[in-house]
Amino acid sequence: MMDHEKIKEGVRLMLEGIGEDVNREGLLETPDRIARMCEQIYGGLYEDAGVHLSKQFHATNNNIVLEKDITFYSTCEHHLLPFYGKAHVAYIPDQRVAGLSKLARTVEVYARRPQIQENMTAQIADALEEHLQPKGVMVMIEAEHMCMTMRGVQKPGSKTVTTIVRGAFAEDFSLQQTFLQMVKA
Ligand SMILES: [Zn+2]
Repeated sequence: MMDHEKIKEGVRLMLEGIGEDVNREGLLETPDRIARMCEQIYGGLYEDAGVHLSKQFHATNNNIVLEKDITFYSTCEHHLLPFYGKAHVAYIPDQRVAGLSKLARTVEVYARRPQIQENMTAQIADALEEHLQPKGVMVMIEAEHMCMTMRGVQKPGSKTVTTIVRGAFAEDFSLQQTFLQMVKA
């Protein structure tokens, strides 16, 4: 699906562009390594979160379901540098729940592509809404961006936090507080 030859050619051109010798020993295999690496770190482009979220179970308990501290690694689409951290994903079921591992899978689908944190947060919420049709969804992502720390714009260790609330979480502020308490607990 991915065009390895194009990726390799692009990497060679970039290395030449910065003034490197693409034929020196250390760089000879680099274009090929990066092409193979792209299959993993951008593989989410070829995945559908619906495949994971369509595995559902009937539930009589319709209280908040939270999967927290889901570690993820993504790539900033503006600089192609990593951003990484933790995602916390919650929803209020309406008779249907997904397997817990499927929430982590959903995070991976949207992390493994050129991405910005704000959109990733919304895409995870959209996928849950579409496939589970829950009463509410809340997603929070805390991440460190290498494009901030490596380029020295901000101090290392600074985190960007994004949230999105839908349905019952948007209507009832106390549910948002419950989410935050559960995440911090
Ligand atoms: Zn960036």
